[in-house]
Amino acid sequence: MDKNFQEEFTQIIKFKPPLYKQRHQFVKDLVEKYKPKKVADLGCADCSLLRMLKFCSCIEVLAGLDICANVMKEKMHTLSPLPVDYLQPSERSLTVTLHHGSVAHKDPCMLGFDLVTCIELIEHLEESELKKFPAVVFGFMAPSIVVISTPNSEFNPLLPRVMLYRHPDHKFEWNQAQFQTWALETARCYDYSVEFTGVGHPPTGMEKVGFCTQIGVFVRKYPQTGESVQSEKPTEAVYKTVFKAVYPSLKDEKYLQNAVISEVIFTAQIIKHRLMSKLEEYGDDPERKSQFQPSMDCFSDYLEKLVVEKNMEPFVSGNEVYIPLATIFSFPKVNRLCGTFEKLCKLIAGKVTLSSDGSAVMFSIEHENEEN
Ligand code: SAH
Repeated sequence: MDKNFQEEFTQIIKFKPPLYKQRHQFVKDLVEKYKPKKVADLGCADCSLLRMLKFCSCIEVLAGLDICANVMKEKMHTLSPLPVDYLQPSERSLTVTLHHGSVAHKDPCMLGFDLVTCIELIEHLEESELKKFPAVVFGFMAPSIVVISTPNSEFNPLLPRVMLYRHPDHKFEWNQAQFQTWALETARCYDYSVEFTGVGHPPTGMEKVGFCTQIGVFVRKYPQTGESVQSEKPTEAVYKTVFKAVYPSLKDEKYLQNAVISEVIFTAQIIKHRLMSKLEEYGDDPERKSQFQPSMDCFSDYLEKLVVEKNMEPFVSGNEVYIPLATIFSFPKVNRLCGTFEKLCKLIAGKVTLSSDGSAVMFSIEHENEEN
């Protein structure tokens, strides 16, 4: 028996995982394959696909569109950033926007997308809307990839309780030939290629019936830049934005600065701690102290190498301990966050106590003892 469903009795088919999850997983796999930065979900309903896609790290812009504002509003708060997103801002930027409007109308906010998904949407469109749909999606939005899924009516006799259509709001349900004819004609008109697949396998021996959900993946044949699309196609805004969330990101200087300051202080504290334990171990013996080469176990080999090779040694003077910024910058996380030494200096200026020449992070030892 096919792993995608359980056949109970002779005619009742139950998909496992449920078909909507298989459709969403199909889109997620496509995102992982093509790595689009900007994805729009048309007919996004309760935003469940968007909620799944916001975890795909390649995506920087996510937009949803639906003609029913209420269905979007029900769960749109689940697209907002969580406290953890502020505590640990991501390296990528992410903006999620929901628009209220129809796929039969063009709006400039829908330009510049790499992937447009229309999952179980077209069968909800009135004839007049379906006629306008290709010009809006393929002609106007013109993304690199469009995914369209729709019920395959040939599968309906195998589904329990389906009389005419699978849902009372469906305006039609196509068989495989009808969908493929429409899709091939649309692809031809707008210079796309299309491949057909689906989710929800038919039972063994009934392969001719096809997938329960039929899917067309359209790929634009010729490259087209977002800017050229925008400049060629001036249109007035007709959609209403009902939700917008800008996720905290290290691309935003204010979050980057916080992250760098925390990482610099954290790194400097560990180096200082190791240095102090070593000094304590040596006691007051000035000869041993002067031979000091910190050998520190966890950061350790790495730090020791820096100290020995590059003479970037932390040192104590009076009641202060000094950790050279160059040493801190050499640590991979600080280095990756800042990119350049100059950027590190700029981001921590005035936020971290430095030596008078600005070359080292300075901590007071007395202060530390008082705290303990
Ligand atoms: N894509 C969702 C749900 C599809 S149900 C999923 O994968 O689960 C179809 C959705 O299309 C409904 O939310 C409906 O309100 C919306 N819809 C119907 N006509 C539309 C139109 N002309 N423009 C935009 N959305 C439309």
